[in-house]
Amino acid sequence: MSDLFKNIVSHSKEYGFIYPSSEIYDGLSAVYDYGVYGSELKQAIKEYWWKAMVYAHENIVGIDSAIFMHPRIWKASGHVDAFNDPLIDNKDSKKRYRADVLLEDYMAKIQGKLDKEIEKARKRFGDGFDEKMYRETNERVAGYQNQIDEVNDKMNDALRKNDLVALKALIDSCEIADPESGSRNWTDVRQFNLMFNTQLGNIAGEEGKLYLRPETAQGIFVNFLNVQKTSRQKIPFGIAQIGKAFRNEIVARQFIFRMREFEQMEMQYFIQPGSELDWYAYWKEKRMNWHLALGTSPDKLRFHDHENLAHYANAAVDIQFDFPFGFKELEGIHSRTDFDLGSHQEYSGKKITYFDSDLNESYVPYVVETSIGCDRMFLATMSNAYTEETVPDAEGKDSSRTVLKLPPALAPVKCAILPLIRTESGLTETARKLFNDLKFSVNCQYDEKDTIGRRYRRQDAVGTPYCVTIDHQTLEDQTVTIRERDSMSQERVPIIKVSSIISEKVSLEPLLRKL
Ligand code: ATP
Repeated sequence: MSDLFKNIVSHSKEYGFIYPSSEIYDGLSAVYDYGVYGSELKQAIKEYWWKAMVYAHENIVGIDSAIFMHPRIWKASGHVDAFNDPLIDNKDSKKRYRADVLLEDYMAKIQGKLDKEIEKARKRFGDGFDEKMYRETNERVAGYQNQIDEVNDKMNDALRKNDLVALKALIDSCEIADPESGSRNWTDVRQFNLMFNTQLGNIAGEEGKLYLRPETAQGIFVNFLNVQKTSRQKIPFGIAQIGKAFRNEIVARQFIFRMREFEQMEMQYFIQPGSELDWYAYWKEKRMNWHLALGTSPDKLRFHDHENLAHYANAAVDIQFDFPFGFKELEGIHSRTDFDLGSHQEYSGKKITYFDSDLNESYVPYVVETSIGCDRMFLATMSNAYTEETVPDAEGKDSSRTVLKLPPALAPVKCAILPLIRTESGLTETARKLFNDLKFSVNCQYDEKDTIGRRYRRQDAVGTPYCVTIDHQTLEDQTVTIRERDSMSQERVPIIKVSSIISEKVSLEPLLRKL
């Protein structure tokens, strides 16, 4: 783990954003609880997504379907037969790994060496450094690149063909060792289904087997007709949903990046067959803009086309974010064709078609979906926001602070109300009155304990964008100071204007208008 990543994990725990699940029982691997501030931040992320998708589009509507669904749904969707990861066990350490992840880590190590060579050369050659030329002509760098490309091609080929023997052979030929024990004593590669299952109480055996949904999308597909009829939408239109999903991940690590219980924000867009690549391009751009509108640097986001398409897709791309452990998938945009609706039509025996009055014909609609993990978005938001910096204290001396530079609209606490001196008569009363005025429009905190400097630091650490201080002058002229978190600048304003100033600054509306 990089130092930055370790710091984000410990900050999240210490300041009430994320706790390991069941901690007093030593935790449950890859399951986490959102704490005092984390639950607020997560809620704000969901609100930003929901408003951007559902409120901002007259042709997108929302639903909230159940986690349990008829077991045949997972047969129809392909999850029973094909929602597998290739796993491999180490016979000495008894540890279990994903075969493709072992290979990806192996390639990442070579990539690390390659990057180091490039950095060394950049320092050596200074301003005149031509990176492209160096990559092509330096033997060592070109050799590393060839090694990566060769392993990547072989791995993708094996995954595409579902050739588990070839995957094992590749792990052997790369001489990959168990990262924990160093042993190369591996079992064969096997397929492992990622769905959790449970049993209905009143039906024994296979018939009563229920799955915990591994994606929210199927709840949307099986409700297509219900929603279309009750919302009177015409194609193209979308159905959005936020909800829990469950996957029995083999390698659960990297904190909330890969969890066994997580939350998805998905939207399925139903369209005319043949128009899917246009809508795919449209949603790619729309979704990238959603991320950029938060102020995320464009250098930290990129598209990554899928090389191995899932069984249901004819085009797929990830929006990757530069997490503290490198660029990884944050969101997926998939052109799912008519696979899901067509398959549910076949398995359920119910006709799932749409009569298009413009074309005067019926068809099974095609689908383009956008699917983002709320928890991954949470981690990306924390990674963007977490900052350690040196700033002047009240006496102008250097002091260090840890501050979460969260977009104000997402911050868990929008505003802190701070009477400068607890004992000065009238200050706490005025401060409480202001708190009571504000509390129904934005999430506020009242704090009168410790020095004002300490209180500012506490609010910085949870990302509160505005601190309102009530001081002696307030009693004389009814003005207060508003301190802005990032610049730490202070502005004196009339107390009666505080509510409207803060509400405007923390509003989601300007972000949504940018989209
Ligand atoms: P990965 O390749 O990282 O396993 P995936 O391609 O299986 O992800 P999708 O099935 O496309 O993921 O799911 C859509 C989104 O759900 C992902 O972009 C991610 O943000 C989120 N997601 C998927 N699996 C997990 C998980 N185990 N924990 C947290 N979020 C997840």
